[in-house]
Amino acid sequence: MHFFSHWFSQKKPLIFYGVSAAALMICLVGSHQTIQAYAPLPSQAKEVSSLEGEVTTPYLETEEAVLTALENSFTVDTQKRAQAEAQAARIERQAARQKAEEAAAHLPEGLPLEGVITSEFGGRSDPATGQDSRHDGVDLGVAEGTAVAATAKGTVVFTGEMGDYGLTIVIDHGNGYETWYAHNSLLAVTEGTIVSRGNIIAYSGNTGYSTGPHLHYEIRQNGVPIDPLSPLPSTDEA
Ligand SMILES: [Zn+2]
Repeated sequence: MHFFSHWFSQKKPLIFYGVSAAALMICLVGSHQTIQAYAPLPSQAKEVSSLEGEVTTPYLETEEAVLTALENSFTVDTQKRAQAEAQAARIERQAARQKAEEAAAHLPEGLPLEGVITSEFGGRSDPATGQDSRHDGVDLGVAEGTAVAATAKGTVVFTGEMGDYGLTIVIDHGNGYETWYAHNSLLAVTEGTIVSRGNIIAYSGNTGYSTGPHLHYEIRQNGVPIDPLSPLPSTDEA
C-alpha cells in the first residue's frame, strides 16, 4: 500500500498529462469527423460547379428526367423548324406572286386610247397608193390631241421624229417587248422616263406619213411586229 501511494504520488503529473493528451486526441478526431459529415454531397457539388460556370446544363436527378428534357427540346426544335419552313414558304410564295405581278405589269395590255380601229395589223392595200403593203400595227382614228397612254410598265427608249412615223415614242418593256406610238402631235415624256400602264406619254396627231388624225400603235417582240389585237403569250413563255 505504501508502495502504491508512493508510486501514485510520484507518477501523478504523468497520469494527468496522459489523460489530458487522450482527451485532446478524442476532441481532434471528433471535430475531423464533423468536418467530413458536412462535406458537399454530389448534387451540391454540381450546383457549386455550375455556379462556377463549369457546368452549364441543369443538374438532372434521374434518367427519366434526362429523357423528358431531351424529348421536350426535340419537340421545341420540331416546332421551330416547322415555323421556319412555313415562313420560308410564305416568303417564297410572296416573291413568286410579286415576280408574276411585275412580269404582267411589263406585258403590253389593251390599247393606248379608245378609238375606232381604222386599219388592222397585217396585209392591206396602202391607203395612199392602193398597192399591197404590210401594216405593222393598228390605226386608231381619234381627234388630234387625244391623250395616248402607255400599255405597260417600261422605259421610254425613243422620243422624236422618225420618218413616216412622225412624232414617235418607243417604250422598252423588257422580255423583248417594245411598244411604238406614232403620228403624235405632242410628246409628254423624254427618253429614259419610266412609265406604268395608263401613264399619259403623248397626244395624238397627224405627223409623218398619215392620211388623217390617228394613232398608229405597234407591239414588237424581239424586233418583230406582232398583232396588238391578238392575246400575247403568257409571261412564262416570254
Ligand atoms: Zn398605221
